[in-house]
Amino acid sequence: MNPVTARNYINGEWRNATDVFESVNPANRNEIIGTAPNSTAQDVDDAVAAAEHAFKTWRELSWVKRAEIIDNFAQLIKRDVEEIAVLVTRECGKPINEGRADAVEALHMAQYIAGLGRLPHGYAVSSEISAKDAYILRKPKGVVACITPWNFPSAIPLWLVLPAVLAGNTVVFKPAEQTPICGHKLMELFHEAGFPAGVINLVHGFGEPVGDPLVKHKAVDAVLFTGSRAVGKYIQQVAANDLFKFAATEMGGKNATIVLEDADLELAINACVLGAFKTSGQRCVSTSRIIIDKKIEAEFTARYVEKVKRIRVGDGLNPDVFMGPLIEAGAIDKWQHHNAKAKEEGAQVLVDGQVLTEGEHANGNFVSPFVYRFDGYKKNTFCLREEAFSPHVGIIPIDGLEEAVEVYNDTDYGLAMAVITEDYRKWRYVRDHADYGLGYVNLPSIGAEVHLPFGGVKASGNGHPGAEGILESVTHRVAFTVNHAREIVMAQGLTTNI
Ligand code: NAD
Repeated sequence: MNPVTARNYINGEWRNATDVFESVNPANRNEIIGTAPNSTAQDVDDAVAAAEHAFKTWRELSWVKRAEIIDNFAQLIKRDVEEIAVLVTRECGKPINEGRADAVEALHMAQYIAGLGRLPHGYAVSSEISAKDAYILRKPKGVVACITPWNFPSAIPLWLVLPAVLAGNTVVFKPAEQTPICGHKLMELFHEAGFPAGVINLVHGFGEPVGDPLVKHKAVDAVLFTGSRAVGKYIQQVAANDLFKFAATEMGGKNATIVLEDADLELAINACVLGAFKTSGQRCVSTSRIIIDKKIEAEFTARYVEKVKRIRVGDGLNPDVFMGPLIEAGAIDKWQHHNAKAKEEGAQVLVDGQVLTEGEHANGNFVSPFVYRFDGYKKNTFCLREEAFSPHVGIIPIDGLEEAVEVYNDTDYGLAMAVITEDYRKWRYVRDHADYGLGYVNLPSIGAEVHLPFGGVKASGNGHPGAEGILESVTHRVAFTVNHAREIVMAQGLTTNI
């Protein structure tokens, strides 16, 4: 396929660029997917100015009218779902079933948000005073910056952009530098759907030259960020400098699957393979710890290792491949660092992951799974506490339900937790005592649906989840009270004598 020339889209116009960077296929570094502008703070200024200007008129449309344009967009995504699926796989390496799931989730988000346009966005409440009507209404915040990661390059941007524009905000979208062509494809569809000039603007580029000035921009009212903990924390600190600025930061995890004594072992093994190795472990919700009752650990581990060794690694366009490449060379370095730390910290290596460089793997960022175990829980280790974001998983034998939850909670993160058990009392205990934003029973720790909130607690998120949750982040809920009487009567018996 010919490389795509992605461009910035500002105030309804595509802008040509001279300074560009390349996006390459992580499964075949010789294949250039396209080029995108190396934007600067000036491009950010222009995009924010366009969004600020468009806000004046976009906010005047009804929620229904705005939703109609989002519905146009949903139909275009539906038309192009297969094209998006292949593009996602070529640009970020996920196997094609995952590329398709990303595109389908993008479609679901567009359908869901278009539908919300006809649902209430406020409600009437009664007042102490019978002649008064009181309402709680949602009002847009203004210009919203949407800064997104590479690993769900079609779904995650829509979790953020669509609720923002439905509510009457205007947007500056900065896609991840690893997946600019997916961002470009979304922008082409926004354009075709008929969003007025300035309502959605796109600026390509890297974190420091583009993301940073966007976050710091005085005309940006809200920042919706999904990405790493380090960048999310920085964005929270920057936003705190401006009293008006709101930041929703969804970040990483050190997620676990807890396998209890009574678990269905086959289900547990499958859940832990899917949780740890789908997307090559590069999901914020990937399982990187398996916390398992020591009574069943030996059998689980033997069967798990045997299955993991059979995982097929390769180009995700081959439908038989289970695990695609890592996103870039730096991700291989990070994976090797985490593996080396596990060895240094005394782990017993069960599957010693390798960098794959021969044959079909010669031109991609391919590695095989890394699995290790400890004899019991080892506190204060790097390998069991820090996000690896790669095919790296540790098995931790524990003694019973309460220790399982204590070990689970012993990280700074709190994103995804799965528990495998047949006992409703046990999963209820885990549900109520573990720290997580996404909980699963007899499932892998991965999986999202757009009508559910998606986010974490502790260092995983600051309480403003994506997808279903974002409407809260892009609107102010205002109180609005109307008096229908000729005289003024105040609440709480306040006198009105002057
Ligand atoms: P990243 O933090 O490196 O980058 C995310 C985005 O932030 C990119 O667009 C990047 O250009 C931008 N950015 C980088 N520095 C910036 C700065 N100084 N100011 C403003 N923007 C800046 O993350 P990534 O490598 O793209 O994604 C992987 C991370 O994302 C993992 O930690 C993963 O767990 C997390 N993630 C979280 C969720 C969630 O919903 N909680 C979902 C997917 C991924």
